[in-house]
Amino acid sequence: MPYIITDPCVSVCDAACVDVCPVDCIHGPEDTEGSGQEVKESGFDPEGKQLYIDADVCIDCDACVPVCPVDAIYEESDVPDEWNESIRKNYEFFGLEAP
Ligand code: SF4
Ligand code: SF4
Repeated sequence: MPYIITDPCVSVCDAACVDVCPVDCIHGPEDTEGSGQEVKESGFDPEGKQLYIDADVCIDCDACVPVCPVDAIYEESDVPDEWNESIRKNYEFFGLEAP
């Protein structure tokens, strides 16, 4: 079951998770194929933005979880109820149908 980036990432968006993902499946906040490059551009404003995990590519390795400074990443089955909507957002960012 893929991993999901939830609400605590919103407005933090530091892309620390991107650097440790072995299959390069974390993208956004705007480019569905980029690896968080927007975050590294000078003047980037993270307000209201987050990164997303491509469910079709994620191999459930757990490497991204410990590096997230705000504990925003969960295995899909463990996403807290209050952030359930994040599951749909992650799938839809990549044009995938949410389960
Ligand atoms: S669980 Fe592994 S493969 Fe999936 S997004 Fe995190 S680092 Fe990438
Ligand atoms: S490490 Fe956490 S806060 Fe940073 S971009 Fe990834 S999910 Fe968002």
